[in-house]
Amino acid sequence: MKRVLVRYGELTLKGGNRQQFITKLIQNIKFRLKPYQEKTTLIRDHNSLIIEVADDFLERLISDLQTVFGIYSLSVIEKSTWDLKDLQAQVLKIVETNLHQAQTFKLEVKRIDKTYPLTSTEIKQFLAPLVLQTTTLKVDVHHPDLKVEVVVKKDQIDIFCSRIKALKGLPVGVSGKGLSLLSGGIDSPVASFLTMKRGMQVDFIHFMTPPHTSPEALDKVFKLASQIAKYNYQSFNLYVVDFAKMLQELNHIPDQSYKINIMRRMFVRIANKLAVSEGHQALITGESLGQVASQTIESITTVNLVSDLPILRPVIMNDKEDIIKIAKRINTYEISILPFDDVCSMFVPTNPVTKPRVWLAEKQEASLMWEPILDYIMASEIQKFHYHEGEFSQVVFNQA
Ligand code: ATP
Ligand code: MG
Repeated sequence: MKRVLVRYGELTLKGGNRQQFITKLIQNIKFRLKPYQEKTTLIRDHNSLIIEVADDFLERLISDLQTVFGIYSLSVIEKSTWDLKDLQAQVLKIVETNLHQAQTFKLEVKRIDKTYPLTSTEIKQFLAPLVLQTTTLKVDVHHPDLKVEVVVKKDQIDIFCSRIKALKGLPVGVSGKGLSLLSGGIDSPVASFLTMKRGMQVDFIHFMTPPHTSPEALDKVFKLASQIAKYNYQSFNLYVVDFAKMLQELNHIPDQSYKINIMRRMFVRIANKLAVSEGHQALITGESLGQVASQTIESITTVNLVSDLPILRPVIMNDKEDIIKIAKRINTYEISILPFDDVCSMFVPTNPVTKPRVWLAEKQEASLMWEPILDYIMASEIQKFHYHEGEFSQVVFNQA
């Protein structure tokens, strides 16, 4: 059996919400460990969590915990009582298991419980000679190959050799629920991931325009949502909207340079209506300021005006390069660059307006019959898919 110490990090700072955050985090952790829950035991400490796990599941446990937002870092620990003989034995044990090629070491001692009879220095003075005698290690306080940390708590002592970085952020579910506009591109999955990082549960909406967009393009969207599922809430929904009828209508826009801008306004109108009925508190997009014509501040303004809900844009100030870096880290990049285009990439007019004006956008729309089409789409062109434990299943969904 191994013990893993889970540190909460930022959570500890959140005052009044703290208990709620920790409860949510532990729920999320339990959900991740469900497939092998009989191999694990969770022990709550007031500032951290210890998970006992069967030896064969240690590696899996650590990689699973590294997908859970709200965890700051992890350590595989040995536990000792306050008894010095026991402490000595556990320290030597952990040094031995982590020795590998190490030539130098350093001891770090922290007393959380100040009633312990020895001071930190005295504990070091007791332990260091033991390590020097039983191994070939030498002391190096500046750049040790092996750092042994000893933390004295009430009734017990934790000993560990490394702090494994985790995702940080906040537990998904503590910041409400958002609806992310997921295209097949690089940016929107990253924006969704970053939203989850701040504790928001994310559902997805995708606009397709068959027959212009292929089944493969739609498949990409399911793949992307699945790929980031492990960071998301326990289960979530993906809504697929058939936008074809509206796109047809957009061909009648007098000034075609406004087409993408109006399309965006229609996306957002539909997403708003859906969000209100499904309980989402915000929309999320992968827009980045100035990246393309439709992402200038003027475009953003004309789009925001048709949204009652706040539109969160987590990558708004990121360069493409930085977005790609995250996309690679979360393994969405390879899916996003598959060559199946979504509606946006296919219908870019030759000269999209870069600085749309609100009144001109409104004027374009006034010459369309968009309202009944929007109602029709809301009533009968939305499919809902529910993701749970690795699979999507279609849910009966009728907005009418
Ligand atoms: P991405 O890489 O996320 O596709 P992009 O740089 O290609 O972004 P656009 O195509 O201009 O940018 O889209 C901007 C944002 O609008 C996307 O990040 C996404 O949130 C939303 N969006 C675009 N097309 C669709 C679509 N077909 N379905 C749902 N949302 C979309
Ligand atoms: Mg795109």
